[in-house]
Amino acid sequence: MQYAFGKGRKHRTSPKFDAHNPKAIAICDGCGFLVQHEHLREKKDYRGGSVPVGLSIYVCASCDDVPQPYYSRLLLRPDPVPVKNPRPDSQDAQTDAQEAAANAYSLYLNQLYGLA
Ligand SMILES: [Zn+2]
Repeated sequence: MQYAFGKGRKHRTSPKFDAHNPKAIAICDGCGFLVQHEHLREKKDYRGGSVPVGLSIYVCASCDDVPQPYYSRLLLRPDPVPVKNPRPDSQDAQTDAQEAAANAYSLYLNQLYGLA
């Protein structure tokens, strides 16, 4: 919220007219009300990067809002460092007898279906 209402202003203020110290008056692009030109701020939103970019839309304090973070870049943390010399699970390790049985069964199936 601090970002959206920067410059210490939360609400739109009516323009001040001073003949001795004239200041520009502008129309807000959001609501269309007359506001002091120096109170306008550029509306910003994310466009795929990590920093919001200006949209060339100048709005008053009450029309400015927080940029939608959905359009910002998603920063993923790096993968964890892998373990050195990993050891396979003892249950996953296939014994020679199991491998021979699997090969024999594969040969049997190939002969059964006429593939070998
Ligand atoms: Zn406005």
